[in-house]
Amino acid sequence: MTALVQLEGITYHYPDETPALTDVSFSVASGERVALLGPTGAGKSTALQLLNGLLLPTAGRVLFDGIQVTERSARSVRGRVGLVFQNPDDQLFLPTLLEDVAFGPLNAGVTGGEAAARARQMLAVLGLEHAAGRAAHHLSGGERRLAALATALVSAPELLALDEPTGDLDARGRRRLLDTLAARQETLVVATHDLDAAEVLCERAVVLVDGRVAWDGALATLRADHAALERCALIA
Ligand code: ADP
Ligand code: MG
Repeated sequence: MTALVQLEGITYHYPDETPALTDVSFSVASGERVALLGPTGAGKSTALQLLNGLLLPTAGRVLFDGIQVTERSARSVRGRVGLVFQNPDDQLFLPTLLEDVAFGPLNAGVTGGEAAARARQMLAVLGLEHAAGRAAHHLSGGERRLAALATALVSAPELLALDEPTGDLDARGRRRLLDTLAARQETLVVATHDLDAAEVLCERAVVLVDGRVAWDGALATLRADHAALERCALIA
């Protein structure tokens, strides 16, 4: 399988010098589904933002489809990676949900009518058709989370990078999210500490602990290895 994304020796320090990632290497093959696990503060959100060039590495390099992600290439890479932030409020900023979801296709040059049709269809898949004309800040936390996902899915990106997608979803919202994602074809990287959701969606796990890769392998193997789960701070 060819790698869609490669992280090669990535170190990332935030501008205030906080070291978030140290010498992180892993690659994700086209069509693969990877759970990015690890305790809070391990560097999961940082790693996702490096995948689409929102952050650029302090050292090492990220390759997307063989292209090094740099300031210059980040814009085109971003069009191919659907990143859904941990906080849905970072994704939803237009007067109505329909506009939020139509924004990506419009930006890609799709006509207004077609973008709206795609947005409506995507909202319906996620059970949000009733909310299309409402503003995100009038929705529940769970609805906002699904709407943020819709803004990424509507553009059918090559890579879906999801940050804690099951947070604050109720049982029905969670089921809808998992069913929707299971039916998609995109290469998937999901940062989560929801091991059950990870198991439904992903075959492989990459675990970060203190900004370093502590495990990389089959998720089923990890789940069966009590000592590894403890070492990776995935169980108390
Ligand atoms: P996770 O998503 O696994 O919880 P993060 O990637 O958010 O981890 O954070 C990794 C480390 O980087 C943590 O120590 C966190 O406090 C720090 N960090 C995250 N965002 C910033 C920021 N904007 N500025 C400085 N440090 C940050
Ligand atoms: Mg995070």
